[in-house]
This record gives sequence, structure tokens and C-alpha cells, in this order.
Amino acid sequence: MPPGSRIGILGSGQLGRMAALAAARLGYRCHAFGPEANAPANQVCDAATVAAYDDVEALKRFAGAVDVVTFEFENIPLSTVEVLGALVPLRPGAKVLSICQHRLREKDFCRSVSVPTADYRPAHDADGLVEAVAAIGRPCILKSAELGYDGKGQVRIDADSDLAAAWAAMRGHAAEAVGIVEAVVEFRMEISVIVARSGDGAMRTYVPVENRHRNHILDETIVPANLSQDLSDKAEAIARHLAQEMGLVGLLAVEMFVTHDGKVLVNEMAPRPHNSGHWSLDACVTSQFEQFIRAVAGLPLGATERLCDAVMKNLLGDDVDDWQKILSDPGSKLHLYGKASARPGRKMGHVTRLIRR
Ligand code: AMP
Repeated sequence: MPPGSRIGILGSGQLGRMAALAAARLGYRCHAFGPEANAPANQVCDAATVAAYDDVEALKRFAGAVDVVTFEFENIPLSTVEVLGALVPLRPGAKVLSICQHRLREKDFCRSVSVPTADYRPAHDADGLVEAVAAIGRPCILKSAELGYDGKGQVRIDADSDLAAAWAAMRGHAAEAVGIVEAVVEFRMEISVIVARSGDGAMRTYVPVENRHRNHILDETIVPANLSQDLSDKAEAIARHLAQEMGLVGLLAVEMFVTHDGKVLVNEMAPRPHNSGHWSLDACVTSQFEQFIRAVAGLPLGATERLCDAVMKNLLGDDVDDWQKILSDPGSKLHLYGKASARPGRKMGHVTRLIRR
């Protein structure tokens, strides 16, 4: 797409904001679509539509105002995607979204392309949960197949847990959702790999990074992950394989567990820029956001070499009050998302510490 073209972004959070800033540098104009006024992306986009995802008239007007549509989060109703897909190119497409927004379809897809995951079973109702737990064994984890993120809709099932209560707790988060029961993985490390794939099938990956969580929310990303070359290659190969088999055009973040005995198991995928790739804004030739825009706009992919090692830390809730202190550290880069209220656990910004040797 030539400079000056218009990119529509479904979702108006910080990922859309950072993608729109990268797009602007390449001469594109972005149009955010989401339900929230004064959202992080709206503040930096050329245009913004504030409407619900099922507002068909607003979606049609949005489709008419842009040259391509992408999204910055995957919990978008498939009906929305169908309305848009009939009117304007959608990258990545509906198939990728459908796989990545549903944990059961995601794991079934991995299995279908021979990518290992934790052992899992579906649970369609409370009786199904009893069967699934019997098959997997305890301890295990019940997750809602849809609308779960940052540990929401997840219940750990230990030796003495009551299954009816576990089912009720999961349904309390997502009333209609089916469940997935997963074996607990005793992992050595949680990592992620981000891969970009363009329409002509070219792919570029970023180095595997280690992700450390606090209260189920990403706290720190350590770049690179401390892995052997063999494990690092294995993780990158898995991400490429998944992107290729899905027919991805865009960006895919693949979260994985590395086990003590050297297995790499896929936990989750996100078909968009990812929190664990924020470090690339300051420590890479091409950031994940620029790469995302390049893939969506049909430009050649950029180099993903790392310029230096780094540690990215999320600023959650009132962590953001430290902004002046962070600015006075010459090795740190501060990014704030323009959110008005610092509710506990809310992602307000991040800081990347550059580690230069
Ligand atoms: P998720 O929403 O699936 O990314 O899960 C949030 C966090 O819960 C992960 O980052 C892990 O720390 C933990 N977790 C999720 N699934 C498993 C599993 N099958 N075994 C062990 N830990 C898990």
C-alpha cells in the first residue's frame, strides 16, 4: 500500500496506539475502532470511531473509510469480522482470528499440525468437567475457552478441589463459555516468540524472550531468554510453522513453556503485537509494531536483529507514579499509554532497560 493509505485498527488500546505511531512514521493514516472514548489509540490516530463491535452501521462506515483492516486484540465477535471482511481486506483473516480467540480451537489446531501442548480435554458442562479431570489427572487447570486473559476465567484444580465449585467459578467469568482442562506443566521457564509473515509467505522471527508474571499479569520480559541454541531454534521453528500453517498475514505471538526435560509446549497464541515484544521498540532494528504494519500493508518485512539485550517491565497501576525517576535513568526508555486513571493492575505504560555491553 502506498504511503497515505488508511489502516483501520479494531481495538483502541495501547497496542493500537503503538502500532498507529509506527504506521504514521511510514506515512500511513490510522483509524481506530472501539467502544471507549479517549482511548490510548484514539489519541494518536488520524480518525477514531467510538462504537460497539456489533454496531453494523458504524462498521460499514468504518470499512468505507479505510483501505485495510487489522486488529489489536482478538476478542472481537466473528460476526464483526464477517461484516468487515465482505467490504475490505482483513489482515490477518477470519480463520486466524477464529483459531486464536478460542483456547480449544487453538490447542486443536496445534495438535493438527503436530505442535506439542500440555495434555488437554474439552469440558462442555459440569459432567464433562468430571470426565476431563479424570482423564487428565490432578492437579490440573480449568480455563474458559473464550474471553480469558491475564489469568481471568482460570481455576486450578488440586487433589481436594470441588469440581462443581470450579465449574461455577469459570462460568462466573464467561457465562456461555465451554471449558478446557489442561495438565499443570512444571515449567523451567515461560517464553514467547513473535513471528511476522507477509502475504508472499516471507517470515521473520524475533529472538525468544523470557516472560515473568506477577498475579497472572506479565511483569517483566527478559531479552533474550537464557536458552541453549537448540531450544531457541526449536521455539522459533514452532512459531514459524504455526504462522505458515495458519496462513497468517500479520504478526503472531506464541507463548510457550520450556520444561525441565527440554520440551517446548505451546500455551497460547495472539495474532497481533504482544506485550512481550515491547522491548523491540528500543532494542531492535525493526520494532514489532513497525513489522506488524509492514505485514498488514504489504511492505517487505524489516530486519529483526537485536541491537542490545534488554529487560522490559510493565508499569501496572500506580507503578506509573515513578515516571520521573525512570526518565532520569539514562539506560531506560519510558513509554506511557495516555490512560487517565491508574486502577490497580491496569497497564499504564512500560519501561525498557537497555543492557549495553
Ligand atoms: P494463560 O492465560 O493461559 O496465558 O495463563 C496465565 C498463566 O498461568 C501462564 O502464563 C502460566 O504462568 C500459568 N499457566 C497457564 N496454563 C498453565 C499450565 N497448563 N501449566 C502450568 N501453568 C500454567
